[in-house]
Amino acid sequence: MKLINLIGFPHARLQEFLLEHRIEPYRAHQIFIWIYHYKVYDFDSMTNLSKALRALLGEHFHISLPRIQAKTTSQDGSVKYLFELEDGLTIESVWMPSDERKTLCVSTQVGCRLACAFCLTGTMGLKRNLTSSEILGQQIAVNEDLDEDNQVTNTVLMGMGEPLDNYDATVDAVRLMILPEALKLSSRRVTLSTAGQVDLIKKFQEEDLPVNLAISLNATDNKTRQDIMPINKKYPIEVLMECLRNYPLKPSRRLTFEYVMLGGINDRDEDARRLAKLLHGIPNKVNLIPFNKFAPSEFDPPDEEQVLSFQQYLLAKNYTVFIRRNRATDILGACGQLAAQPLSPAPA
Ligand code: SAH
Repeated sequence: MKLINLIGFPHARLQEFLLEHRIEPYRAHQIFIWIYHYKVYDFDSMTNLSKALRALLGEHFHISLPRIQAKTTSQDGSVKYLFELEDGLTIESVWMPSDERKTLCVSTQVGCRLACAFCLTGTMGLKRNLTSSEILGQQIAVNEDLDEDNQVTNTVLMGMGEPLDNYDATVDAVRLMILPEALKLSSRRVTLSTAGQVDLIKKFQEEDLPVNLAISLNATDNKTRQDIMPINKKYPIEVLMECLRNYPLKPSRRLTFEYVMLGGINDRDEDARRLAKLLHGIPNKVNLIPFNKFAPSEFDPPDEEQVLSFQQYLLAKNYTVFIRRNRATDILGACGQLAAQPLSPAPA
C-alpha cells in the first residue's frame, strides 16, 4: 500500500481515519501539533500517542517535504527556491523580505495551461497539478531553511500555475495555512490569485475560507485582454466583473486587482480611464506590475512616466494603487518569470 503524506492531509480527514480505527478524533490535533508546531516527522517521537497508534500511523502515512535543490539570492534580498519533487519535476517559490513582513510566493502547478502571452510559466504548458503536500510543503521547507526572524508571515499563491485550476489541492493547502494547529497564518495574510476563472471563484466563495482574493485583470477591453489572456474568451471582462461585484467580502476587506503593464498595449490613458470605471463600487486595491521581460518575449516594459501617470489618474479617483516594485528580476524570480527550466527550448 502506498503511504500517504501527512503534510497537506486535511485535518478532518485525519479525524475520519482515526474514527474508522476506533481512536478518539482529538488525537488528530495532537498529531498536527507534533508535525506543524514541533516539526517532529517520525511517529515514534510523538510521545503522547500510544505505541499502537504510532504503529498504525506508520502503516498508513509518512511525512516528507519537497527537497530544496537550489537557492538563488537576489541583490534585493529575495531568495528563489528551486524544489525537486518526488517524480523529478521542479517548481519554484520566491521569498521576499521587507521590514514588516516576509512574503512567500508559492506555486500550485508545474507549468500552467492558461498560456497568458506575457507569462513565462505559460510557455511551459501544464505538466501536472501539485498535491496539497507539495503546495504546503514549499512554505514549511522554506521556514525550515530560515532562522526565527525570517519565518514566512504572508503567503501569496502567485507562483507557477493557476491555483483555481488545481482546486481541491489548493483549497486543502490554504485551509492548512490558516489552521491554528497547522501553519496558523491569519487569513488576512494569505492571498490567492486567479486569472479570472469565474465558475471556480463562485465555488471558492462557498468554502468559507476568508483569505484575500487577487484577480489578474491586466487589460480593460475584451479585445486586448483576449489577445494576452486566452481565458478571456471563456469569461469576458463583463462576466468577470459581475462575479467580482457580487463576491462576498468581509467588512474592511478588499479585492486586489493585478495589472501587468505592457508598453503600448494596456498602459494608455484610456486604459486608466476604463479601469477606473470597471472598479467603480468594488472595494479594491490595485497593484500595477510593470512587465518583467524574459528573453524570447514580444512585449516591452512600459515607460516609467506612463506608469506614474496611470497611477496618478487612479489615485485622483480615490483608488488605492501601488506600483509593485519588481523583486528578484535579476534572478528571474519576478512575477511571470518562474519556469524552473532553462530558457532555451529543449532540443527536439
Ligand atoms: N495564475 C494566477 C497566479 C499567478 S500570479 C494569476 O494569473 O493570477 C502571477 C502574476 O504575475 C499575475 O498577476 C500575472 O498577471 C503577473 N505576471 C505574469 N507574467 C508577468 C510578467 N512577465 N511581468 C509582470 N507580471 C507578470
